[in-house]
Amino acid sequence: MIPAATPSAQPADWRRAFREAYRDPVALLRALDLESLAARLPPDAAGFPLRVPRGFVARMRRGDPRDPLLRQVLPLDEELRPRPGFVDDAVGDLDRIAAPGLIHKYAGRALLVATGSCAVHCRYCFRRHFPYAEANAAGAGWRESVAAIAADPALGEVILSGGDPLSLATPKLVELTDQLRGISHVRRLRIHTRLPVVLPERVDPELLAWLSGLPWPVVVVIHANHAQEIDATVDAGLAALAGAGARLLNQTVLLRGVNDDVDALVGLSERLFDAGVMPYYLHQLDRVRGAAHFEVPDRRARALVRDVRGRLPGYLVPKLVREVAGEAAKRPLA
Ligand SMILES: *Cc1c(COP(=O)(O)O)cnc(C)c1O
Ligand code: SF4
Repeated sequence: MIPAATPSAQPADWRRAFREAYRDPVALLRALDLESLAARLPPDAAGFPLRVPRGFVARMRRGDPRDPLLRQVLPLDEELRPRPGFVDDAVGDLDRIAAPGLIHKYAGRALLVATGSCAVHCRYCFRRHFPYAEANAAGAGWRESVAAIAADPALGEVILSGGDPLSLATPKLVELTDQLRGISHVRRLRIHTRLPVVLPERVDPELLAWLSGLPWPVVVVIHANHAQEIDATVDAGLAALAGAGARLLNQTVLLRGVNDDVDALVGLSERLFDAGVMPYYLHQLDRVRGAAHFEVPDRRARALVRDVRGRLPGYLVPKLVREVAGEAAKRPLA
């Protein structure tokens, strides 16, 4: 008999890490020695299943129910408490769909909802109730959304978003960018992704070859909320993305109990800079149903940013913004 190859003999495959994410909240709590929290899990994960890659869990502190990474992903019964003003489509995206999966809200740039899939499910996510099955661009073979981009010469920037666009297989991304290559008014490609942080295995040679072969300047906007999310594996992936020519920015959501203190925000900016990433936005929470317990009042948010500005060079201070349905850009708050 020929012995099967041992898994360790094969190259690391990001899809396996993606599939092997925790989905059972009780198993996650057990891994962290936090079984006592099981009593606070909402039935059916409040309609938004838990999902968190094992590598991200490895960066959490065992036995700490207030760990800032755990808080971002663990469903809690607080999510079921209704709060006025917290709704399903918090940012008015559903009114701005220009073609299947294409959201055109701001001048010059359109956001392509490439897929509904994410490697991690963030409890505060404003897309937790988004009807992805009907509204994602890959499902329609990209054709209609690419046609809408081609028909609007003012669209100089295409933003791949989701869900997480890097949860698509690389050949799928190649298929999209091959179609975009023919559009002469596209001058920049932007990718909004949390994968380099939560699943750094995704930054593999195939992805890097795709990126470095693109005809446009590429901006990759990652999403980290706390310095503890960035470890050596994340550093390596980010360095590889920069090596492939991507400019790296970060967006953060201001979250109560995660990063709503000056030391956490300063520490994050410092850590991002060390990883070669410039802070971009600090978002006030979108008021989505189930996320009210993460909200930080505007007054406190402004005070935090003022204190951060007192401690860091201006280029390490992210812009505090809120997304307001119907406005021409994100609204600056500080
Ligand atoms: C945030 C966002 C953008 C990008 O806005 P920038 O200010 O350029 O970062 C574009 N489209 C949509 C729908 C957005 O929500
Ligand atoms: S879209 Fe971004 S914030 Fe929302 S669940 Fe996916 S990774 Fe998290």
